[in-house]
Amino acid sequence: MANWVARSLLKGIRTTRWPAQPETTPGVTPGRPEPAWREDAERVASICPTAALKADALGVAVEFAGCVHCQRCRTGTEALPWRADFEWAAGTDTAQAALPARFRHALHVRYLDAGACGGCMGEARLIDAPPYNLHRFGIFITATPRDADVLLIAGPVTEAMRVPLLRTYEAMPEPKRVVAMGVCAINGGVFGESFASAGGASALVPVDVVIPGCPPPPLAIVHGLLLAVGRAKPAALEEAP
Ligand code: SF4
Ligand code: SF4
Repeated sequence: MANWVARSLLKGIRTTRWPAQPETTPGVTPGRPEPAWREDAERVASICPTAALKADALGVAVEFAGCVHCQRCRTGTEALPWRADFEWAAGTDTAQAALPARFRHALHVRYLDAGACGGCMGEARLIDAPPYNLHRFGIFITATPRDADVLLIAGPVTEAMRVPLLRTYEAMPEPKRVVAMGVCAINGGVFGESFASAGGASALVPVDVVIPGCPPPPLAIVHGLLLAVGRAKPAALEEAP
């Protein structure tokens, strides 16, 4: 025990100071493309596999909620400027208000893997690891929906996960909020809508907060949870140059 305490004192605090201070550690985010003036905007926009890039009179606009981070617009002659932020979460058009103030320091979150590839859940598993330490905000992961205030969904909602999603949502007490994590949960992502995929969580339950990315990095997920309790400002996801 004494050794453990001494080692901790020697190593110092390893948890990010964000959001009190900016987090600029290399690799903490893959970044995101920025809108830019381009004469060949049509050509640049055409390389995006999900139509997240749009050509208009002002150049190339970015609808980040559709970006699957394929990196095609990061290099080569189509390269757009990228910025290294991660505060990507935003409210939806049908979002309810943030949870009441009593949830600000005591929030319970239930994960739901609704057919995700593993990427989003892999990042989500890191949010309570020492570098990010979700617990410092009073946010905890719970195994039962009956204790959950927020449902954090990944994946496009496969046919097999329709009923589990609905039952999980119904089992949660009011007030509750739903956060869609990753492009698949927002709009189906590369899976889209089909006989096997609902094309995103909003097809079945009301989604309050979306966290773009494929997958979103851990701090983007934390930002989305803070937004659900009114402790963070939303990002603007659709931008024009
Ligand atoms: S990184 Fe995103 S915006 Fe750029 S081409 Fe890929 S999906 Fe489209
Ligand atoms: S958004 Fe990307 S990482 Fe997340 S489940 Fe979909 S494909 Fe996987």
